[in-house]
Amino acid sequence: MKTPALAVDVAGGPFVPTTLDRREPRGDDVQIDIAFTGICHSDLHRVQGDWDNGVFPMVPGHEISGVVGAVGEDVSAYRVGDRVGVGVMVDSCGTCEHCVGHQQQFCVDGVVETYNSRAYDGSLTYGGYSRSIVVREPFVHRIPDGIELSGAAPLLCAGITVYSPLRRWGPVAGRKVAVVGIGGLGHLAVRMAAAMGAEVTALSRGGEKRADARRLGAVDHLATEGPSGLGGSRNRFDLMLNTVSAPLDMDPYLAALRPGGVLVNIGAPGVPLSCDPFSLIAGNRAIAGSMIGGSAETKEMLRFCAENDISTEVEVVDAAEIEWAYRRVRDGDARYRLVIDATTIGT
Ligand code: NAP
Ligand code: ZN
Repeated sequence: MKTPALAVDVAGGPFVPTTLDRREPRGDDVQIDIAFTGICHSDLHRVQGDWDNGVFPMVPGHEISGVVGAVGEDVSAYRVGDRVGVGVMVDSCGTCEHCVGHQQQFCVDGVVETYNSRAYDGSLTYGGYSRSIVVREPFVHRIPDGIELSGAAPLLCAGITVYSPLRRWGPVAGRKVAVVGIGGLGHLAVRMAAAMGAEVTALSRGGEKRADARRLGAVDHLATEGPSGLGGSRNRFDLMLNTVSAPLDMDPYLAALRPGGVLVNIGAPGVPLSCDPFSLIAGNRAIAGSMIGGSAETKEMLRFCAENDISTEVEVVDAAEIEWAYRRVRDGDARYRLVIDATTIGT
């Protein structure tokens, strides 16, 4: 099935219109008419060539929401017209210990990502900057009633990526949680951690997101590039999520952790991060990483968002505005996630 899409032909190049040939739905495939696709900073890293594994031409997009258009004969959970979403993963072996443990992102055969990945049939995957996609049923998620499709799309990457470490390093209720970088991931982290009962502090470069941070549920906001920076916050936080898309000087952030505190690094600037070993030794502090979340946890996260009235703050852009949208993400100007109206692709 032919579908219009937006591609980048070379790293750092502009978006150009293209046409993809999506497979006809096989047994457990779900064909989705895409409504919205979020612009994740990972898309920007990938099209800029910040990470070294880019395959071009590339059609990005792994924060997808839409409506089921067709299903294969073995699909049981979805019907034509259902509201669904797809995140970073579209396939995995299904039998290794990580797949069986619902952590498909660590599949020993290599998880198949929504784009820039090789599927088990040898084909390359192309993502959600397109009008239609075909995905196996286990990697499709039902969007709960009450969450609009535009705000739902970014939950499938940004949302699960911050939900998972809040659960893994929780329970966070009553604990002091810091979120560093208030962008697409960060604003959802503030909302989710607050809904879990944490005392949340938002850390931004400047002070202009202070009022927003409070509105999102933070009790405090620190401007890290302001006059006092992190100076007054030594030994303060139990848990810190770093969602910054650029390299950070880790030492002042580690010093802001209480003894035994954990900094979970989520941001992926594509360059090494370093710290003074004494920043970890003094206070038994730890740095951890976290990669998206498994499919069962993604379903749990969607339920949690529906129950707590959490969605993404989005600004919808047309396909024709893609270069402008990318400049805004690059400049840190998104409040807080730009999503593409996929129905404008190819028009
Ligand atoms: P985003 O919307 O662009 O937000 C990033 C935030 O980082 C900005 O809003 C800004 O917050 C802060 N920032 C940007 N440049 C900075 C700089 N030079 N110095 C200090 N702070 C800076 O990005 P996103 O979509 O949330 O993604 C954030 C990062 O997470 C990206 O690197 C992305 O690749 C990564 N990611 C990782 C996973 C995973 O599985 N681990 C999944 C998805 C995304 P303030 O204005 O508040 O300072
Ligand atoms: Zn993403």
